Amino acid sequence: MTTEGKVFDGRRMLPSVDKVLRHSDMLIERWGRKRVTECLRTELIKIRALPIYDCRKKVTPDEIIKIVENSLLKSDTSSFRRIINLSGIVLHTNLGRALLPKKAVEAVVGVATCPTNLEYDLSLGERGERDHHVEPLICELTGVEAATVVNNNAAALLLVLNTLADQSEVPVSRGELVEIGGSFRIPDIMMRSGCKLVEIGTTNRTHLHDYECSINHRTALLMKVHTCNFRVEGFTATVEESKLSVLAKQNGIPFVVDLGSGNLIDMDKLGLPVEPIVSKAITDGADIITFSGDKLLGGPQCGIIAGRRDLIDHIRKNPLKRALRPDKMIYAALAEVLKLYRNPRELEKELPTLRSLKRSVLEIEAQAKRLVPQLSAVLPDDYSVGADTCNSQIGSGALPVENIPSYGLVVSAVNDTRLRQLLGAFRQLPFPVVGRLNKGKLILDLRCLDLEFQFSNQLSELAALIK
Ligand SMILES: *Cc1c(COP(=O)(O)O)cnc(C)c1O
Repeated sequence: MTTEGKVFDGRRMLPSVDKVLRHSDMLIERWGRKRVTECLRTELIKIRALPIYDCRKKVTPDEIIKIVENSLLKSDTSSFRRIINLSGIVLHTNLGRALLPKKAVEAVVGVATCPTNLEYDLSLGERGERDHHVEPLICELTGVEAATVVNNNAAALLLVLNTLADQSEVPVSRGELVEIGGSFRIPDIMMRSGCKLVEIGTTNRTHLHDYECSINHRTALLMKVHTCNFRVEGFTATVEESKLSVLAKQNGIPFVVDLGSGNLIDMDKLGLPVEPIVSKAITDGADIITFSGDKLLGGPQCGIIAGRRDLIDHIRKNPLKRALRPDKMIYAALAEVLKLYRNPRELEKELPTLRSLKRSVLEIEAQAKRLVPQLSAVLPDDYSVGADTCNSQIGSGALPVENIPSYGLVVSAVNDTRLRQLLGAFRQLPFPVVGRLNKGKLILDLRCLDLEFQFSNQLSELAALIK
């Protein structure tokens, strides 16, 4: 006879669904009979699947109701968590890219909670144009004639190409047929927009005569894609934008530039990796430029299309524009972010993206040195914690080859399993911490650690999770 035979098996004595439901009026009132019943069934199945060891006493209806209530409460919490981004990638696409400045958040709340003149001209009392909330600002800051906004830069490109090049040819250098993380590929977007991609030049070298030879009566426009997420080195050649612009003009076709991480200020002056400036692309002769709102610009997710008024008017009339238009919260946030650029000296203080990018290594190093003993104190002996220099990146396709010197915590473990346990524990914290692995060590780049207490206050919980 096995000992198991003598052990009381709570799993076999569970109350029926009906019986528990009869005691569940409070739950049913709040969540409805259907959800409570479904949740109850699921929880009973989970209890039945427990090992006998964990279920050696009678489970009462009240206990089950408590379990069901907790499960329902949990299902009501947001699936969004506030994360501490210590990955070293300032604009991390998976972590939501740019953080909005306070003024932008206030503007979002304003339009979200009250009817607003999104598309209503208050002086005329008739229908207005939602672009008018941001277009004058974009023109003022970049020197373009007109601008419109869509959901992201991929949508911007789709709309521009579909409007200006549907059923026509667009020559693009083989060196610019890029993939930009998360399944965005220039050739795919071109195909979906209805235009025919004509590949010219080679991966490493494309010359002006490659463009010249490709142009015929079916060519709709010339396009340059800012290949920001990789760099071809060595024997290379690309054609300057000013030359492409002249060639486009000679042939009476527009010149379009996809800037990717469009940038309104000179990053060089701030000591940061150089990204193309929007106004420079315009003076270099681009007729249309497109760029993202939530990359270096530091605003909400959107794609900005800016350039010649006649072309923008044409683009705005495309029915696809209606399908790609952002909502009022995006316009409100974008307008406030753009206004901050009127005062470049204050920008660093006001714009979270720039603030993170500009934090001094000395300041980050001091933070690292404060945190080493705190983290070390809560980790078991088979981990060791140190602090060291590391490199941050702008992220989101902005020059990953250009590093920004930073400082971080470096944790090593006795083996891979222990390291993975630590990563998992960091992810389970109330404010999950995302770091990065490098050569078998966990690097917590502190460049983006704005609220230090948020990190240190939860270290005792980390201790409980890692043991
Ligand atoms: C990032 C990027 C895109 C895509 O922009 P999203 O705003 O993410 O849609 C397109 N082109 C280039 C060159 C980029 O860097």
